[in-house]
Amino acid sequence: MNSKISWYIQKKNKFLGDNILAICYNADEKETRDCGLTNDNILIFIKSNKLDDVLDEKNIKLENVLKQSFKNKKVFLRIQCECMLGMYGDLHCDCEEQRLRYLDFIRQNEGIFIHMPQEAQGYGIFYKLKELELQVGGRNQKGFFVGKKDRNDAFYEINHKKFTDSRKYYVIKNIFSELGIDNLSFILLTDSERKLKNLTSLGIDAQMYSTYVENNVTAENASEFLIKILDGSFNYDDNKIKEICDLIQNRAYNERTINTFLKIIEEIKNNKDIGLSKENQKLLLKTYDNIICGVEKTYNFVDQNVLKVQNKFSCKVDNKIFGITKMIFGKNIFSRIAFESNYLFQDLVNENDVKIRHSTVLDVNEKNSLFLKGQEYLQQTIIEEKTKFVENEITKSKLKSYFENRDYFYKTKIDMITFISENIMDGVNVYIKRLPNFDNHIMDVYGKKEKILKFIEEITKVSNRTMLDSISNVQLEDDKSINYNLSFSDENEAINEEVSIFKLLNK
Ligand SMILES: [Zn+2]
Repeated sequence: MNSKISWYIQKKNKFLGDNILAICYNADEKETRDCGLTNDNILIFIKSNKLDDVLDEKNIKLENVLKQSFKNKKVFLRIQCECMLGMYGDLHCDCEEQRLRYLDFIRQNEGIFIHMPQEAQGYGIFYKLKELELQVGGRNQKGFFVGKKDRNDAFYEINHKKFTDSRKYYVIKNIFSELGIDNLSFILLTDSERKLKNLTSLGIDAQMYSTYVENNVTAENASEFLIKILDGSFNYDDNKIKEICDLIQNRAYNERTINTFLKIIEEIKNNKDIGLSKENQKLLLKTYDNIICGVEKTYNFVDQNVLKVQNKFSCKVDNKIFGITKMIFGKNIFSRIAFESNYLFQDLVNENDVKIRHSTVLDVNEKNSLFLKGQEYLQQTIIEEKTKFVENEITKSKLKSYFENRDYFYKTKIDMITFISENIMDGVNVYIKRLPNFDNHIMDVYGKKEKILKFIEEITKVSNRTMLDSISNVQLEDDKSINYNLSFSDENEAINEEVSIFKLLNK
């Protein structure tokens, strides 16, 4: 590598997440002058998962790392013009908002983020304050009010000549050549046609993100389509919506996509008009049902004993419970059966327990029962003054990363088969669980206290013997269970037994 480049592999960057490669390009005098640089050091951040592979190596060849990082891929590129005042909280422009948004984008999608020191279109921060005082306050530097000016008039007032943008971009081409990545294809994160033209005229293969988005739905850009649906500005045909749903159903999405998707679902469920046809709303809801098992819950405990958002009652029950609930409600109340594996880890750094749940769900809401793909949930219990219980969906690779992370100690795996009745009855949700090393089944009932009591009363009216033992939350959740090997000796047999109950229920 040339002496114009310095580099540093940063572990766990706060904004870009995980490991990143920070590069500084030292521009020469000509580049600095021509390109309107106010600082001859240009910072480049490279986010690539490939960095994880080289992190523990003693010797690293930067060229190889760069080559590997974006092999066979179109590379997201953000060229961020410096706005020092924005970074220090000035809200007169949206530069900072954009900077953070695109950092987040690169965090989720990988790519290159360049901090271009071209403050005030290349005229610098010293000039910028004079310009802003004229624009925002209408005052010149002597403090006299001369009327608010736009950018061009302010420039004229200060320099007595016509405004010209003094920024050029050929230094970007030089940086890419220096790094050996000038032959890659880039997707430029910008709204500015001019910026794109500047790059392509230098021979850099680039397209604008918006055109990239319009063309096809991918895991990287699905969220952009969804955002347009959410704000009602979309113009997609039914096929496009189906394409998006297929992608989500196949779990080829990132965090951003799923978050936006969930917001849309919320709007649909609240009957907000976001301009979707009834058919498409149905399709989105169906997709949601296929990927989410149950409702995400957040439990807030003020202290160990008091106030939960929902009451929970747990007890042991025998197999008759299935027949009895069917008798009481006149139908099978269980719409889903989930096969779960819960992996318990200890976070050695924060001393939290972390539970990762992987589940496969059989759904009977559909006419044809179907097995859904696995889902992984992260659940973290933080015991300080408050106990928090958070469930977030995580990816399979993230589950794997817990096993590989030395900060996490793998404790045990708990298998569980659960019959789920959710939002079917008025005010109570019932889970019938089968755990290895527990006799019979365990029933968890959630809801308002009086609703739970009424439900239990109905059951005991039919059979007192069905309710075998009430179990406190502590009994179920304390450390004792961790000492057992809580896996079914024959998982398939256990599943078959439960599925046959399930089939009987639906007769
Ligand atoms: Zn700004």
